[in-house]
Amino acid sequence: MQQALLSCAYCGEKLARGGRSVTCDGCETGFHIACAERADELAVETNSRLLRSDVHEITCPDCGESWTLSFDPFE
Ligand SMILES: [Zn+2]
Ligand SMILES: [Zn+2]
Repeated sequence: MQQALLSCAYCGEKLARGGRSVTCDGCETGFHIACAERADELAVETNSRLLRSDVHEITCPDCGESWTLSFDPFE
């Protein structure tokens, strides 16, 4: 069974599994964290309050849904 890969809403590249990409729970728009950080319209706040992970607070440009993500920097 093949898994459908979404494309980044900003650069158009496929969202690779295991990379720093996210999919909105609200509207299923996908994008890379790096692209999201470059886009002024998207609020991405990175906190490193935890030793082993970065926490990104993201607001979806399409539906306005906000959510928080954690990434393992050694991934
Ligand atoms: Zn991208
Ligand atoms: Zn959304």
